[in-house]
Amino acid sequence: MAESVLKTVVIYTFVLVTALALATAFIFIPAYVHHIEGHVPGGFDSLYLSKYSPYNTIVVEVDYQQGMEPDPRAIAVLQEKIELYSQKRVVMHLNQEIGYDEVPILISGNDLFDITGRLQQAHRDYRTGWLWGNITLYIMYLDTVWQPDNSEYSSNMPAYQYMTGTREYSAGVTYSADSIIIFRDALTQEGTETTILLHELGHVWGLDHSNKSGNVMNAGFSVYNSIPLNHEPDVNQFPTNYSSEDILRLARLHESPHILPFF
Ligand SMILES: [Zn+2]
Repeated sequence: MAESVLKTVVIYTFVLVTALALATAFIFIPAYVHHIEGHVPGGFDSLYLSKYSPYNTIVVEVDYQQGMEPDPRAIAVLQEKIELYSQKRVVMHLNQEIGYDEVPILISGNDLFDITGRLQQAHRDYRTGWLWGNITLYIMYLDTVWQPDNSEYSSNMPAYQYMTGTREYSAGVTYSADSIIIFRDALTQEGTETTILLHELGHVWGLDHSNKSGNVMNAGFSVYNSIPLNHEPDVNQFPTNYSSEDILRLARLHESPHILPFF
């Protein structure tokens, strides 16, 4: 009798330990890594782009402050490029719902992330589901000026910034795996908005900065005033596509089977 009780206890313990081990390996660790990667630009690159990704639809939610509506032409190019490189359906949601009193006129340094965290909580409608449904890209258009004091961002800025003495204000920033902020008022020249959106999208897809002029991933394109305002606007200065090397990288991500966080 005692022997069969012992046998039952051993079997149940074995089943429990096995179930826990499997859950840790296939649920808890991947969910944790997914959560950590959610904080890093590029962390979801193959989830957006891979044909093996469980997501067939990319939801782009753009929330903007009153009077800061995106240029529809820039939004159309953004949608077209996401469709082109992901080969997925893209659904756009544009909402003017961020109030004036919610955003300070000047933001410095890391205050940005507290403020945008609160704005996201208040306004974000779409999120990335866990392994099914949609993956989202969240963009906020804000009427504020951000002066980064974080060397991580300012070190990316081109040297001529310092030479010309222009102050460093950012025109756009990618601050997690799926979130972009556009500083609408910093887009002082026609043509910059599309370039800035594609530049930030490039970061979401894990592209690095380039020091080549005319490359959409040139750090100068995310910096306000990097092109002196007294120059004639030159549409060729504002590229509307990625370089051939970056397009190759995006194509490799489209073919990549590495969609799970642990390999
Ligand atoms: Zn950048």
